[in-house]
Amino acid sequence: MHSSTKQHNFSAGPAILPPSVLKEASQGVRNLNNSGLSILEISHRSPEFDSIAKEAEALVREIAGVDDSYAVLFLSGGASSQFFMAPMNLLGENETAAYLDTGVWSTKAIKEAKNFGNIEVLASSKDRNYVYIPKRFKKPKDAVYLHMTSNNTIYGTQFQKFPDVEAPLICDMSSDIFSRPIEANKFGMIYSGAQKNIGPAGVTLVIVKKDWLGRTDRNLPSMLNYMTHVEKGSMFNTPPAFPIYVLMLTLRWIKQKGGLAAIEKMNKSKARLLYKEIDNNPCFHGPVDKKDRSLMNVCFLPTKKEFTAPFLEMCKNVGISGVKGHRSVGGFRASIYNAMPRRSVQALVNVMQEFGKKYG
Ligand SMILES: *Cc1c(COP(=O)(O)O)cnc(C)c1O
Repeated sequence: MHSSTKQHNFSAGPAILPPSVLKEASQGVRNLNNSGLSILEISHRSPEFDSIAKEAEALVREIAGVDDSYAVLFLSGGASSQFFMAPMNLLGENETAAYLDTGVWSTKAIKEAKNFGNIEVLASSKDRNYVYIPKRFKKPKDAVYLHMTSNNTIYGTQFQKFPDVEAPLICDMSSDIFSRPIEANKFGMIYSGAQKNIGPAGVTLVIVKKDWLGRTDRNLPSMLNYMTHVEKGSMFNTPPAFPIYVLMLTLRWIKQKGGLAAIEKMNKSKARLLYKEIDNNPCFHGPVDKKDRSLMNVCFLPTKKEFTAPFLEMCKNVGISGVKGHRSVGGFRASIYNAMPRRSVQALVNVMQEFGKKYG
């Protein structure tokens, strides 16, 4: 890849990774740590891979402050498999779980959970096509857990604060994991597909309270039972070895950047830059309630429909890719995950300003 052909990549997912990670991952494909072997060719039970998997877990624990009362698992099947695995493992047939509906991903989680127990949807922002985060909802009574989606990738909303409830939280953090400090011990379970903020597609990070497992007496297929993966250290079957390797490299990068507090600072600075332009530019506006705006996925709409095509064209001409909005929202979406450099956000702001001068 020649640097002059490198795009400003605003893709929502799979998404941008740090250049140093891409470089090292390519090296690992050819010759892993001077072993003369490729990461793609070695046994997942080899000492080389064992040390990668151990380092990945240790970095998750260190970066997010996850103690030994939690298991850290690297599974396959995407975040979407956790929509059913969580209730299948944790919710008894006659028990109730509470859910917050903040968009497509929550809706899917709710649909799957209904196969396993009573599901109470405490609040939904569907009435305004999910452009806000519901703040007030009745406290879940006797709920085994409260499930939520911390960042709504499609609509560009994000919980700024986690709800204060008695029930343990299960949180789908697929699009904002490790973008800000978290109080891991507030959660019963956290899960995330890697492909937005911490690696390539193919591995799903699951952090789950150990004493919570085995709480239902449901008969589970081994592969779908968290216990199996806890007991076998995520090596019951062949794990997604290459994605775990790249995830580990990405976590090293996060640590080297100064950890989650430093990452959050950069993310806030990038988001501020872009939202400021959206609010000041006559050609664009932001559909999301300001206090609920996401630091990761920045949605903005054209003030006139006919702006859409020429703006995308102008972006393309300066090497900006991935800013077309999701089909259910329209307009534009710039995903500015951890690895997105500030100068790429500035490049987008520059085009918006140029567009504003021409059409505003
Ligand atoms: C992308 C995404 C998913 C789906 O993840 P898969 O790994 O494709 O199953 C789930 N939840 C959220 C919040 C997402 O952004």
